[in-house]
Amino acid sequence: MDQEKKQSKCNIHSNFNNNLLLFEENNIQTKICLVCAKQITENLNRLIEYDEFIHADQNYVFSSFPPLNDKNIYNTIKNLQIKKDSSIQDIFIEKISNYFTCLKKEINQKIDNLHSQVKSKLIQMQDFRQNQGDIFLDIYNEVSSKFDIQKLIKEYSQDSDQHLKEIINEKYSNIKSNTEKLQKNISEYQAIINKINLKTPIEIQSKILDLIDQIDFFEKPQKDIIENIEFEKSKSYSCSQNLQIQRIQNRQIQINQSTTNRGVSYANFILDPNQKYIFRVKLQTNSNADSFLIVGIIQEQDKDNKKLYDGICYCERGNIMTINKVVKGNNVYEGSKVNIDKEIEVRIHLAQKMIKVANYPNYENIAELENKQLILENTQYRLAVELYHIAHKIIITHLSIVQQFDEKM
Ligand SMILES: [Zn+2]
Repeated sequence: MDQEKKQSKCNIHSNFNNNLLLFEENNIQTKICLVCAKQITENLNRLIEYDEFIHADQNYVFSSFPPLNDKNIYNTIKNLQIKKDSSIQDIFIEKISNYFTCLKKEINQKIDNLHSQVKSKLIQMQDFRQNQGDIFLDIYNEVSSKFDIQKLIKEYSQDSDQHLKEIINEKYSNIKSNTEKLQKNISEYQAIINKINLKTPIEIQSKILDLIDQIDFFEKPQKDIIENIEFEKSKSYSCSQNLQIQRIQNRQIQINQSTTNRGVSYANFILDPNQKYIFRVKLQTNSNADSFLIVGIIQEQDKDNKKLYDGICYCERGNIMTINKVVKGNNVYEGSKVNIDKEIEVRIHLAQKMIKVANYPNYENIAELENKQLILENTQYRLAVELYHIAHKIIITHLSIVQQFDEKM
């Protein structure tokens, strides 16, 4: 039957075989010759050779069938077929390997070029061509008169003996000038040696290595962790047990003080030094202007018995805090106010000894830890807040871990 259809001559155009299919909307022909087809359609791309269709196997993709709105799709699928034997994982591995091979090659080329440029520049610098060791020995030999003395010792006569005494005495009377002469040469030598300054190149090296660490092919979105954490009351510091901690709308955590006395509350997890945290808090009070609200990090060993404002903190009173080195704008603390209602963002990356505070959401004022050495290595820290007035309220609005801090602060 197939053979018959394929081979059959057109009744009208006897020189032509009915070897085409026409798959046009409302115009479907499974046995038609080219001349007939051209007469009944202008859409020649809706024609498919009978043989082509019949022999299409598992891997075959037609150039215009089934009808689609985007003609590129046929080619895209054909091109993707080249990789049909690779898993997505293989494709990723290949892409990433190519990236690293290329990165290595280009970095190496760049370094090699720079290295040879610097080398040829150095060779052109005449000043540095002398052999410093010889110069020092020449001066030393001159100052010590050792060859003259050798000669006199060997002669060993009355005259030479006298002469020797004179030379040695002269050495003593010239102690100062001989010392200075040698010192002068040594410091000149050191000055030349110090002309090669590795400080900036080493800084650049560490920046490059940091940048390489940041290469990431799969952008991980920030991970919101406020849902999964709790805040706890310090067990024995002052009146911490009078704090009230509750979840409010949008999983935010509200902490307020039910008595006018100090209270510390801390997160129920230890900060991972290698993670980058973003922590936002609303500070609210209508109490007296010198009241303080504190946000910061507290050492694990201090969390149940110490105040936070001795530690690493931002204080909404301006005076007792360590995060006070302004890096943009003015102080995040805007002067004493009776009514405080502000939101601040705290960014923490302990491995980099980094803790910063900004007013949120405009980031106009940004401050960081004045003395980064306050963040100790091999020490466990928790997020913490401190408040002491019955009117005080701290609302934790956001807590997330990010892959990279954005440029806002
Ligand atoms: Zn025909």
